[in-house]
Amino acid sequence: MIVLKFGGTSVGKPERMRKIAHLVLGTPGKKIVVLSALSGTTNTLVGIGEHLLAGQHAQAEEEIARLEKHYTNFIDELYPSDSHKAIGQEIVSRFFILIRLLAAGQFDDKSYRELLAQGELISTELFYQHLLEQKVSARLLPALYFMSIDENDEPELEKISARLKPLLASLSEIDIIITQGYICRNNKNEIDNLKRGGSDYTASLIGAAIRSEEVQIWTDIDGMHNNDPRIVKKTVPISELTFDEASELAYFGAKILHPSTIVPAQKYNIPVRLKNTLDEKAPGTIITSKGIEGTFKAIAAKDGITAINIRSSRMLMAYGFLRRVFEVFENHKTSIDMITTSEVAVSITIDNNVHLASIETELRKFGVISVDKDQTIICIVGQKITEHKGVLKKIFDSLADIPVRMVSCGGSTNNVSVLVDKQYKDTALNLLNEGLFGLK
Ligand code: ADP
Ligand code: ASP
Ligand code: MG
Repeated sequence: MIVLKFGGTSVGKPERMRKIAHLVLGTPGKKIVVLSALSGTTNTLVGIGEHLLAGQHAQAEEEIARLEKHYTNFIDELYPSDSHKAIGQEIVSRFFILIRLLAAGQFDDKSYRELLAQGELISTELFYQHLLEQKVSARLLPALYFMSIDENDEPELEKISARLKPLLASLSEIDIIITQGYICRNNKNEIDNLKRGGSDYTASLIGAAIRSEEVQIWTDIDGMHNNDPRIVKKTVPISELTFDEASELAYFGAKILHPSTIVPAQKYNIPVRLKNTLDEKAPGTIITSKGIEGTFKAIAAKDGITAINIRSSRMLMAYGFLRRVFEVFENHKTSIDMITTSEVAVSITIDNNVHLASIETELRKFGVISVDKDQTIICIVGQKITEHKGVLKKIFDSLADIPVRMVSCGGSTNNVSVLVDKQYKDTALNLLNEGLFGLK
């Protein structure tokens, strides 16, 4: 069995949805098809939710009406037959009744998450009906039957697997099983999600849960590129990456993959293939345990980073100091991305400021604290990158005119990270593209 995931742009227009039906039908064997919401829908649902949380009902209703119109036009174009146009209209009406019911009720965080789930629920129903209209035998398997997260928002892979296997066994005669990306149930059995971009994660969790042959992530670009194509003009696709390299890139901001996508696939050694729906012949990127040599493979950047500096004379030759510092972050469930030390100071970066104020207060007992917000981590990835001579020289020559706030190297052999103020991000990515890849 293989898992095929199609992202928002791959299902965002009626002709694209028809195209992916072709791709699915052209893929031999049994497959689980994971779909995202139509492009733009989750953003719109976020906007509606924010309006409702702020008590702005009129604005929310305007957005709801606009979204409903979008879906009405979508089904009209997607289904050629009158009978299926009617089925499509029934689906859209049902969803928008529910959305308006959620909006009219006491709108809290729970209703917000239920609202966010509607994008994937509707896209999968529309696609399922499209296949039925073509007389293709397929089945819709709701992700809320099997996908779950624990009290720390971590997916429960063993439980997911235990629920999914018998469900799939009961559908053994069906070749195409469609399910929703992104959505899940939490430990209170409420509807929840795997965070923005989470459909990739759903696909790899399913792949790991059923030990699929491969996980394919179909998107709007021909694989992982060597740099962020939204910021750098000349980028090139990378044909092969190791799990570690891809993981590093996804975690440090390569938007093509949700940050955690690689983790479950790597655990069970399941290849992850990145493919382009708009250019299916393009080779894309294959991510496996075996990589190919070559110093620099790719660069990614992660925004929204806060750097915290703790300066303390007590650090000097004191053991246990770092443990006490780390405990503060652990107690506030805040993970650390980068760390650099000197004899009297330590700098730490975090990507989540929810508990920043209390973290700062607690850290003050260790020394003088300074905080820099709006920083960007730039992560340079390659095979055994830190074992090659001249790697750092090339990186710093490229960044000669950029003030670098922190450097991390040697933690793993496959990456060097630097922290810069966000204002230098675009320039830094372009300079590195030229300096490391000769691309301008
Ligand atoms: P989907 O909706 O299919 O999940 P996303 O928008 O989440 O698609 O991810 C694909 C986008 O990721 C691309 O269009 C591209 O702009 C962006 N991207 C950022 N960094 C990279 C990279 N290194 N390689 C490829 N794409 C990248
Ligand atoms: N629809 C969700 C989002 O926009 C999940 C995804 O597309 O992967 O974040
Ligand atoms: Mg995505």
